[in-house]
Amino acid sequence: MTFKLLTVTLNPAIDINYPIKDFEINTVQRATEDFKSAGGKGINVARVASELGLPVTCTGIIGGKFGEWLTHNLDETHIKHDFTVSPASTRLCIAINSEGSQTEILESGALQPEEIQTRFLEHFNTIVSNYNLVTISGSLPKGFPEDYYIKLLEIAHAQDIPVCLDTSGQVLNYTVTHSKHCPPLLIKPNDEEIKAITSSDSINLANQLLDDSLAHIPYILLSLGKNGALLRIKEEVYNIDIPKIVAVNPVGSGDSSLAGFSYGLSKNESFESAAKFAMAAGMANALEARTGHVDLDNFNKFSNQIIIEKVAKTS
Ligand code: ADP
Repeated sequence: MTFKLLTVTLNPAIDINYPIKDFEINTVQRATEDFKSAGGKGINVARVASELGLPVTCTGIIGGKFGEWLTHNLDETHIKHDFTVSPASTRLCIAINSEGSQTEILESGALQPEEIQTRFLEHFNTIVSNYNLVTISGSLPKGFPEDYYIKLLEIAHAQDIPVCLDTSGQVLNYTVTHSKHCPPLLIKPNDEEIKAITSSDSINLANQLLDDSLAHIPYILLSLGKNGALLRIKEEVYNIDIPKIVAVNPVGSGDSSLAGFSYGLSKNESFESAAKFAMAAGMANALEARTGHVDLDNFNKFSNQIIIEKVAKTS
């Protein structure tokens, strides 16, 4: 059976980028160019996974004319989608780039009617068994309770479908603490987030990864930007060293690394190899101006340049 990936983005967006020379506030600024694309962390995961040749479908919640635009944009880029449609409109996220600076205006998204929570759970329950792996990325829509990702994990767990979870803040904290009966296969925090979710007082990141509060999660990819990552596989921690590059735009590198990890799992590679593909995809994205995009030559080149070494083991 062909390996199929499902990416969940509950709060997607249309990303709009205006390059504006000498941007100033308090004046009229004319945009001579604009770039619009389907956005949101899980959509970036899907775009990069698709570029890596992985069959992928996006799900989540869309609404209104902007929601329709988002699905047309996915159609144009040949990415499959299967969203729940809400009366609440999909949000816009605007980035203005000017002489190396970026100013962002990010809508938080409309309040979702309560019935959409149930409708999406039913939808997810119906479709999840058609996939081999699920990624859940980003924040919850306004009005959703903090245990919502637990409900998605319970549904996936009941159908034996592994889930990689990439979220942050209180939702990450809550989901990690309350998922002992339905753990995600992998979480992908950064160094700030890991401190917030463990009870360890060690300043050593490897020790924090081995903290009992995370023992139920089999794999943790602690991404460290240009410094690579640490990978905790059950009771072992590996350091992942990456070559130096001059990054152009690292936004979306975390999403790309989740796509690379999924690619590795689709090839039945070991978790160590999947982590190498994760790094290669993150780095290849960092070299592109466009968020959530990789050049395959760069991806293949970097995949062979990543060094992974065991750093610690519990006694
Ligand atoms: P997140 O976006 O989730 O914070 P990171 O910024 O840690 O994730 O990026 C994920 C991966 O992408 C890193 O582990 C690394 O492999 C790659 N990456 C990100 N930023 C850079 C950079 N400036 N230079 C080289 N690689 C990078």
